[in-house]
Amino acid sequence: MRIAVASGKGGTGKTTIATSLALSLASESPAPPPIFVDCDVEAPNAHLFLKPRLEQGQPVGIMIPVVDEARCTYCGKCAEVCAYHAIAVLGQKTLIFPQLCHGCGSCTALCPEGAISEKPDPIGVIECGTTLEGIDFRRGLLDIGKPMAVPIIRELQKLIEPLPGQAVILDAPPGTSCPVVAAIRGADYLILVTEPTPFGLHDLRLAVQVARELNIPAGVIVNRENGSYLELEAFCRSNGLPILMRIPFERAIAEGIAQGKTLVEIHPEYAAAFWIMFRQITDSQS
Ligand code: SF4
Ligand code: SF4
Repeated sequence: MRIAVASGKGGTGKTTIATSLALSLASESPAPPPIFVDCDVEAPNAHLFLKPRLEQGQPVGIMIPVVDEARCTYCGKCAEVCAYHAIAVLGQKTLIFPQLCHGCGSCTALCPEGAISEKPDPIGVIECGTTLEGIDFRRGLLDIGKPMAVPIIRELQKLIEPLPGQAVILDAPPGTSCPVVAAIRGADYLILVTEPTPFGLHDLRLAVQVARELNIPAGVIVNRENGSYLELEAFCRSNGLPILMRIPFERAIAEGIAQGKTLVEIHPEYAAAFWIMFRQITDSQS
């Protein structure tokens, strides 16, 4: 079972939920401890809570074009095909802008003179490790200044090979853009973490649209609940979104998380609650 944990925006407590779910499965489930994948490659922070012993990182790169000026006729076809404006042909000069290139290979394939070759361009690393609880931890780390999270997330996805019965927890990036789609694509279930506020509901609506487009069943965890927010309840009801869990707004939780503790460390009773929630999700999907 692959469960992605996402939210329409940052700061909702998505990593709090994902890490505590992983710890709960490691302690409560008879299956092997889960694989945990931190797909928030621009700002991964799950390692701060799960504290894995990380091994040496494997570099990830994309292939960027190199133009052989001796063969180039400056026809401009490469610039025309590049959707990212990463190539420009100016008179007798073909310029590549590596920081804009997405490594799609279209220019190389379409150059009529065979004047374009490709060279690897590193954009980040993938790190793997194991936590004390036996969680198989992976994270991607995008190099500072590189704009492309998606190739690293795809690489992370390729490395996921669960054992029979082993769950996979994917901690998605915040938002609803391409990196989120890359992180949650292929998940069996999506947990959407939200806050009971108008902003939280607005972002939840966007996240639900993405889940619908990808055809992934979803449920909601309401975090920092401080009284009932009727619009959120009505939205979940009318969209068939089960509310999987409610976590109250509580000073002890906020302080514990600020100190790098997980929810199950702050309140151990959540281990059983997450395990029950996980079984409800698996039962609902079988
Ligand atoms: S498509 Fe090839 S030949 Fe034409 S401008 Fe680009 S590199 Fe030069
Ligand atoms: S590889 Fe793709 S993104 Fe990069 S320059 Fe060529 S066409 Fe543009």
